[in-house]
Amino acid sequence: MKKEILGVNFDDLTREEAAQAGAALLEEDRFHYVVTPNPEFILAAEKDREFLQVLNGADLVLADGIGVVYSAKIQGTPLKGRVPGIEFATDMLRVLDGMGGRLYLLGSKPGVAEEAGRRITEQHPNIVLCGTQDGYFKDEEASLLKVAAARPDLLFVCLGAPKQEKWMARWGRHTGARLAIGLGGALDVFAGKVERAPESWQKLGLEWAYRLKKEPQRAGRMARLPLVLVKAAGKRFKK
Ligand code: UDP
Repeated sequence: MKKEILGVNFDDLTREEAAQAGAALLEEDRFHYVVTPNPEFILAAEKDREFLQVLNGADLVLADGIGVVYSAKIQGTPLKGRVPGIEFATDMLRVLDGMGGRLYLLGSKPGVAEEAGRRITEQHPNIVLCGTQDGYFKDEEASLLKVAAARPDLLFVCLGAPKQEKWMARWGRHTGARLAIGLGGALDVFAGKVERAPESWQKLGLEWAYRLKKEPQRAGRMARLPLVLVKAAGKRFKK
């Protein structure tokens, strides 16, 4: 079931349910894409109609941040919980490993996707790493041709939002992949360049605070996030 939060239609799923839905998409022989919006996406989509359409056109829209879960609650349409993109991606790697499928990693700085791929295939020996490409290409069509030539089943697109979502909506069906997922900085995590918050912080819903502690330069970007909560409250009172 979809729940609308400030214009974005989220799938109301637990992590396990999202993994089951993702596995079904990966088994079906046609292109699908998954987005993992956080509050920054919601604010950006308010001002960018194409981005909003691309988000709502996805096969799965997963609530990536605790801010989305709070907004949903404040708005009076609570979600079952959050499904961080990195956890959904980890679940899809497990499914791909079971299929002996092909993985392509697109995005991040030069060298990062290769290192992420090395670590992923070490843990999932049945996955075929069919290609990698950094996310600083000039020509979108040329980036697509490289991906398509590698014939992936599963594609991680990690170019930051909204670039990655627009790339998937525009080019995804020409890649031949069954499933593409927009995953922001996930390759940096898979490559061991960036740490995720310890589980204790994650359980308290404080992953954002840990990230701010590690990357204080994000403060400016994050300062606008409470605005999503205020807007959600506004929407509830309007009802
Ligand atoms: N990135 C990229 N190409 C670009 C801009 C960004 O590949 O043109 C990468 C960047 O190196 C980083 C990821 O996209 O790995 C975006 O990370 P960010 O922290 O913005 O995303 P978040 O995890 O917050 O969604």
